[in-house]
Amino acid sequence: MDLVSHLINGEKCHSPNTLPVTNPSTGETVRQVANGDQATVEQAIAAARAAFPAWRDTPPAKRAQVMYRFKQLLETHADRLVQLISEEHGKTLEDAMGELKRGIENVEYACGVPELLKGEYSHNAGPGIDAWSNFQPLGIVAGITPFNFPAMVPLWMYPMAIACGNAFILKPSEKDPTSTLAVAELLHEAGLPNGVINVVHGGRETVEALLDAPDVKAISFVGSTPVAEAIYTRGSANGKRVQALGGAKNHAVVLPDADLENAAITLMGAAYGSCGERCMAISVAVCVGDETADRLVETLLPKIAGLKVGAGTERGLDMGPLVTAEHRDKVLGYIEDGVASGAQLVADGRGIKVAGHEDGYFVGGCLFDRVTPEMRIYREEIFGPVLCVVRVASLDEAMALINAHEYGNGTCLFTRDGEAARRFADGIEVGMVGINVPLPVPVAYHSFGGWKRSLFGDLHAYGPDSVRFYTRRKAVSQRWPSSFEASSAEFSFPSSG
Ligand code: NAD
Repeated sequence: MDLVSHLINGEKCHSPNTLPVTNPSTGETVRQVANGDQATVEQAIAAARAAFPAWRDTPPAKRAQVMYRFKQLLETHADRLVQLISEEHGKTLEDAMGELKRGIENVEYACGVPELLKGEYSHNAGPGIDAWSNFQPLGIVAGITPFNFPAMVPLWMYPMAIACGNAFILKPSEKDPTSTLAVAELLHEAGLPNGVINVVHGGRETVEALLDAPDVKAISFVGSTPVAEAIYTRGSANGKRVQALGGAKNHAVVLPDADLENAAITLMGAAYGSCGERCMAISVAVCVGDETADRLVETLLPKIAGLKVGAGTERGLDMGPLVTAEHRDKVLGYIEDGVASGAQLVADGRGIKVAGHEDGYFVGGCLFDRVTPEMRIYREEIFGPVLCVVRVASLDEAMALINAHEYGNGTCLFTRDGEAARRFADGIEVGMVGINVPLPVPVAYHSFGGWKRSLFGDLHAYGPDSVRFYTRRKAVSQRWPSSFEASSAEFSFPSSG
């Protein structure tokens, strides 16, 4: 069986312990992934430490050229990468291609790093004094990524971190690590010096070794909220810069004036695409008025019944399986809980059978109507193909509901009313907002991040915020003696006035 190895200093290396990697469409173990420990992390840090000085001193335009070649290689190898994503994650090939393309957009943005690092300059900030700020790399930075976007989320992090002159250590999800490694390996083919990117596999022990290592100056994390919070707390207590993106419960509000057919079609993709395993998935539809709710449910039901579910690696499907048996059981547990708490399960995807894939972790589309805010299926992130309909009387009530939720990642309003849209976008306490756009994932030249317990830290992921996250500002004031002759010592605090 294939072993998914670490990548340290440009070399593949192994650990005595391994973890199984499963194909969720068949339930079979397809590979073993190396399970790194403290020693593996130390090896990666040593490689990164050795590589950093020369990489830091490499001109940004040369660093950008590696990114140009990396982008080309990602496009050349896209079909192979997409197969690997789909085989271990379970998402459809088309969806995996979408994730890869969104990841590549971050590489494109990193190609502009000479412009992004230009800094700020003031001539004659004082008599004969010029002042400027520049942005220097931090040193060694690390990224810890979730299973649900094994190609895209790592690409949110290391292209910009590396383009800014840092050395990077990536700890991918142990559930679907092969595509993540395959993507990172292309950086060496693109001409990146050894040791600038290192990939260390494993679980909690590996992550904690990174969090405690003084050489690691910053941590980017994406995953569930309890882990995000723990990582933020431990990393910052150790003096690191940390951005930790967590879980979500994304609401779409449907106003009575919305184009219901259009809302239902786009909600289908947003709720059930990738089997609901997206941090931006819509998991709650808040309908204003009973008539809106009745019409939306009526419109959704035949579409849910028509969902094409199967092995992600086959073409033309809408949904694959959930990622692991454990996660499928967790999702089934939520569905039982929803029924027990009195919500109406009007579409039941449990018990779905996919011919030839009887051991796959499939759950079909589920729709709960008349969900109320105290129910667990409303409060908690299910991360499965389960959409909850909540009925409210007004837009204000919908906004109050969303603002009271502990998560604030994404949200959307379906309407034709410009005033309502403006009020919603302005007043909603959520980091990413769509108006008739159910998955408002910002493009690569903006930044991505939620509010409240969906993000711990200050700066958001990718885009302009990532340039700031992966660099530190240095302010330089300079005067040359020929332009200044001191006649006496100056003891008062210097000012320009
Ligand atoms: P997870 O939190 O279980 O794992 C994420 C990473 O942390 C993995 O690399 C894992 O090995 C590591 N990890 C797990 N437990 C750990 C622990 N106790 N200590 C240290 N490290 C640990 O998340 P997941 O199941 O892989 O991904 C799904 C979650 O990620 C969902 O909650 C989803 O909403 C969230 N997510 C958020 C965003 C976002 O941008 N906000 C994007 C994608 C996914």
